[in-house]
Amino acid sequence: MEENLKDKLFDKKENGWKTISEEEKKKAFDLSKKYMDFLNISKTEREFIKNARKLADANGYKDIIEYETLKPGDKVYFINRDKSMYLGIIGEEPIENGLHIIGSHVDSPRLDLKPNPLYEDTGLAYFKTHYYGGIKKYQWTTIPLSMHGVIVKTNGEKIEINIGEDENDPIFTITDLLPHLAQEQMEKKLKNGIDGEDLNLLIGSIPYDEKDCSEQVKLNILNILNQKYGITEVDFTSSEIELVPQFKARSLGFDESMVAAYGQDDKVCAYISFNAMMELNNVKNTAICILSDKEEIGSMGNTGMESHMFDFFISEILNKLGVNRPNLLDRVFCFSKMLSSDVDAGFDPIYAAVSDKNNAGFIGKGISLNKYTGAKGKSGASDANAEYVAWVRNILEKNNILYQIAELGKVDIGGGGTIAYILANKGADVIDCGVPVLSMHAPYEVTSKFDIYSAYKTYKAFWSE
Ligand code: MN
Ligand code: MN
Repeated sequence: MEENLKDKLFDKKENGWKTISEEEKKKAFDLSKKYMDFLNISKTEREFIKNARKLADANGYKDIIEYETLKPGDKVYFINRDKSMYLGIIGEEPIENGLHIIGSHVDSPRLDLKPNPLYEDTGLAYFKTHYYGGIKKYQWTTIPLSMHGVIVKTNGEKIEINIGEDENDPIFTITDLLPHLAQEQMEKKLKNGIDGEDLNLLIGSIPYDEKDCSEQVKLNILNILNQKYGITEVDFTSSEIELVPQFKARSLGFDESMVAAYGQDDKVCAYISFNAMMELNNVKNTAICILSDKEEIGSMGNTGMESHMFDFFISEILNKLGVNRPNLLDRVFCFSKMLSSDVDAGFDPIYAAVSDKNNAGFIGKGISLNKYTGAKGKSGASDANAEYVAWVRNILEKNNILYQIAELGKVDIGGGGTIAYILANKGADVIDCGVPVLSMHAPYEVTSKFDIYSAYKTYKAFWSE
């Protein structure tokens, strides 16, 4: 009797693997395999959007520019400067009843090249870097790095760079001091162990054979690049080149229950929501999928979520539906519902002290909802209204989806944020909702295949509501 009452009243917070059949487990593993394959060819925002566009085209989506008019069931997208993308399926309901939006980001922490990156020192050639997003700098030395991005010439020609992913390519690395001579470095605080200005990428060591010429190693590198890409040193000033870990996404553990990969924040939610949308057909409310850029550095600029580009996309939908009128865009946002699908900090038993066990997101316990994020006294938080949390819970419960509601660490320990506040500021109901991650922002991040599968079911159920 006692046991039954406990069963009835307690929030059980079950281990997800114990709640699913072998058949469902196989589905979860198959989905993660698809996800890992996509990650391996989509390490940067530009590559993600390029590959997403191919899949969208193959699944009946068209650029909004190609539509004269729109009607329910139409599948549409807009690509913003090759770095962010918004997709939609027009719903049966009048659009003024609001959108059902799932928004994530496709940029991840990394090292960017400086505008004038190339130099030579003591017979070695280097690229200077400027880190992007919140990284622990020491994690980015002595690992294989690959180089991705674009160089744009003044005539508009765009050269795509991707070096290091192919087994036959060279890779690059940033050196660190040997322990034998690191006494002083080892006394430093962890955050000062490696200086930002010391994150210099080793790229060559053979001098160009020319008499009475200084910087011969640099010259040799420029000669190689000139022959391969037709560029000169000044062309780097109009480039965007990113260094990312060369590691491939892999299954982790003897039981293969987890995914280890670079860039899972937030490409896990981005890919899984995008993939769910590809399988979606008729919807009641217009379904929108946001793949945004620049979240890791504050969502600023014209490819970040703070930009008006998203408003432009929705306005174009209103125009092409033939329903637009003054203030309709505001009304649409005020009646919209959103899942800000960004990863959550997974509880790590090794670093248990930073989390409140009762309010943490656990690996393998399902999709993790953050009612609010922010720091200190909820500063900067977009706090989801209880009514909306209940509405989301109802969808999850009636679809048998395991979920957990968590906070990002203990009170006053730290904090964080997502794009949630941006849509909430426009009037939408928004809650943060994503996959818990271990080693977030590290070159190799860890997620659970069960949680990835839960996210997939959540996104499908939300859009099908
Ligand atoms: Mn994120
Ligand atoms: Mn992040």
